[in-house]
Order: sequence, then structure tokens, then C-alpha cells
Amino acid sequence: MTEFEQFDIAIIGGGLAGGLAALALDARGFSCAVVDAQDPSLMGGQGFDGRTTAISYASARVFKRLGLWDAISPGAEAIRDIVVTDGRARGRFDDGAISTFQLHFDSRELGGDQPLGWIVENQLLRKTLNDAIAGADHISMLAPARRASTRYENAQAVTELEDGRSLATALVVAADGRFSSLRAEANIKVNQWRYRQTGIVATVVHERSHQGVAQEFFLPSGPFAILPLTDNRSSLVWTERADAAAAFLALNEKDFRREIENRFGPYLGKLEVTGKRWSYPLAFHLAQSYIALRLALIGDAAHAIHPIAGQGYNLGVKDIAALADVLRDARELGLDIGSLGVLDNYQRWRRFDSATLALGTDLLNRLFSNDIGPLRIARDIGMGAIGKVAPLRKIFMRQAGADLGKLPSLMAAES
Ligand SMILES: Cc1cc2nc3c(=O)[nH]c(=O)nc-3n(C[C@H](O)[C@H](O)[C@H](O)COP(=O)(O)OP(=O)(O)OC[C@H]3O[C@@H](n4cnc5c(N)ncnc54)[C@H](O)[C@@H]3O)c2cc1C
Repeated sequence: MTEFEQFDIAIIGGGLAGGLAALALDARGFSCAVVDAQDPSLMGGQGFDGRTTAISYASARVFKRLGLWDAISPGAEAIRDIVVTDGRARGRFDDGAISTFQLHFDSRELGGDQPLGWIVENQLLRKTLNDAIAGADHISMLAPARRASTRYENAQAVTELEDGRSLATALVVAADGRFSSLRAEANIKVNQWRYRQTGIVATVVHERSHQGVAQEFFLPSGPFAILPLTDNRSSLVWTERADAAAAFLALNEKDFRREIENRFGPYLGKLEVTGKRWSYPLAFHLAQSYIALRLALIGDAAHAIHPIAGQGYNLGVKDIAALADVLRDARELGLDIGSLGVLDNYQRWRRFDSATLALGTDLLNRLFSNDIGPLRIARDIGMGAIGKVAPLRKIFMRQAGADLGKLPSLMAAES
């Protein structure tokens, strides 16, 4: 007879979403097993994930309340300003001008000393989550281990791992990424499309200080973001046409730097690319349902969006905080946390909100990743209007801070 390991919740996927979910649910008193196919000791290393994440100020509250921020803050660079430029390649390449329309979001306009967010290297986030999980009494990290199958029964879900172990839980959380097999097996349909764009990611060291300014240039091939990091470094997220990206990635060091300098302009002085170049094919996935009996989708398993606004993981953080509130309330009322009635509260809270933001970022990318005259005029008029109206600018800043809508208790501002 198979021996079951019993937990309240099995979390499949120990990435940024799964790891944080385990800690948030542990803080609400649930015992969790986290299953990931990859070795956690490699996840915090240099060669695992070259990306950085813009953590919004509302998401940062979650890390603070879970006691994780002290480990993150020495490596987190505050975003004081965001400058968005409708930069046309022609203008920048031929005459070196940083083109025409600019929008400036200044965190000081929101009052106080609150930055708009922080840029943190993913390897630091992953290490912090995994260290905290290793120290938690009621979380078992089962990794490397791959989920083989899950069957949903009236009173429990049984998850079999490829190594022969079996987990019996009241709920399974799918944090298994954009190609979620749990989602597919539950027959949850997905709206999806490819962007024919690749995100090229690299880190540069530069001569001058970035002064906490995040820059985003909208070039015809896609947005080019320069995100401030600690120690006079910046992280680049260079969205390029997929058919051209391979050639840029294959350039020698000198030519790659020259391409970056052409897009960067001179404002940070001399720069040097450090470390590996990374590339990510960009696509949109939005699950048509976030739940099934004994199953809840979070993070990229529920929605994977264009990185243009740096909001993908922030949406996942809100999923996690909302799920933690819903499950805590259900348990206090003596309800079954895996029942459809309980999980529907989670879905109603999160699905509309994340679909709106996901489609908004899609529209933004379509509107800006081109050089079509009438569209350029329309967006420049739009940018001009936002730039002149302070309340509109504040709404955009609060949106970037993920501080709008109904906030779960881990994310809400101190009253
Ligand atoms: C270029 C780029 C820049 C970005 N920048 C930002 C940003 O600035 N701000 C922001 O908020 N977001 C950003 N994002 C989005 C963010 O990176 C993702 O939303 C986030 O990493 C998703 O994490 P996840 O844990 O949901 O999924 P994943 O990272 O895909 O993790 C899924 C995990 O599940 C495991 N798994 C899958 N199947 C199984 C199985 N059968 N058994 C066991 N384990 C399994 C995998 O091993 C993996 O570890 C960016 C994305 C890109 C591409």
C-alpha cells in the first residue's frame, strides 16, 4: 500500500511564485509541500536566472510582512523616477537625439519618501525565498522532484511524484509556470499568443550614477528598459524582433556593447556589459479559469504577460496574498479549503483584475512597438496629456506600485 505524506497544501513549482506562496500560506498556519523539478541549491546561483524584477511598493509590503525584506533590501535599488520616452530609432541612430515625447513619473509626487518600487536581481529573490523555506517548520521542500500526476477526490487531492512519493492534500496550488501541466490536465483553456519578440537581458556597469531613474525607450522593435541596480549597475530588458534577436545575441563583446550604447545614449557615461546575455521568447497566456475542484492557479500558470510594464510577478504576488486571505477566512469558518465554493472567492478577486492588467500591457506593447505615423501621433498626444495632468500621473504611479483595487491584507498600506 502507498504511504501518503499528508499536508494541507501541495504547491507544484518552487519558482518565485511557488516559493512566496509557501511562505505566505505557512504564515497563515497551513502546512505545505513545495515540489520543484529543479535543484533549489542552484536557483540562487549566477547561471540560473539573469533577470531582475521590478518589485512594486505594494508587493514589497508582502516581503516585509513575511520577514524577508531584511535579506533583500541590501541588494534592492529604489526606483525614484520613471522616464518613458517615445524614442524612434531613426532619431537616436542618425542624430543621437533622444526623441520627442517624454513622460516623467516622480515618486516624490506621491508624498513621503516612498519609492515607486525596487529593482532586485532574481537570483537574490530566489535565494531569499529558498533560505526562508529551509528555516520554516511547516514547509517541506521536495526538490529536485517532478510531479507525475494528480487525482482529485471528494475529500483530498493525491499527487504522485516521479520518484514514487505520494502527497495527500486538501488543495493543490499550480505554480508550475506558463506551460502549467496541472492547468492542462484540469482542461482549463488558455488565451495565448506569441509576440514575435524576444526579451534580451543583460547587466551593465556604468561610469555615472543612474540616480534611481528607470528609463524606458519605446523603439519600433519594442521597449528598451534600463533598470537601476546597486553599485552603478543597470539591468537591460531589450525587447527585439524575434527574427533579429539571435543576430544581436551572437555579436562579439565590442559590437554588442556598441548596439547597447546606440540605444542607451551617453547619459550614464562609459559602460561595460558584465556577465551572460540572456534571452526570453515573449508570449501572452491567460487562463480562462483560475480554479477547479482542489486546484488554484497562481503566477505564470494563471497569466504570463509582456514585460513592458514589469508587472508579471507583481500580479503573482497579489494572487498569493489574496489566496492566503481567502484560505484563512475559509478555515476560520470551518470550510473545506479545496472546495469550489471557497476557491471561487479567490477567482472572483483575482481573475478580472489580472486580465485587465494583462490586456492593458498587451495593448501598450502593440501601440508602442511600431513606427506607424498616425499611431505615433496618437500616443504622443496621449503621453503629452498624461504628462500635464498631475492626478493622471498619480494614478499611473499607483498602478505601477500595484497599489490600486482591493488589496489583500499582506499588501495593504498600514492604516
Ligand atoms: C524578460 C522578463 C522580464 C521580467 N521582468 C519582470 C519585472 O520587472 N517585474 C515583474 O513583476 N515581473 C517580471 N517578469 C515576469 C516574471 O519573471 C514571471 O512572472 C515570474 O518569474 C513567474 O514565476 P512563476 O513562479 O509563476 O513561474 P516559473 O518561474 O516558470 O516557475 C515554475 C516552476 O515550476 C516548476 N515545474 C514546472 N512543472 C513541474 C513539474 N511537473 N514538477 C515539478 N516542478 C515543475 C519549474 O521547475 C519552475 O521552477 C519578467 C519576465 C521576463 C520574461
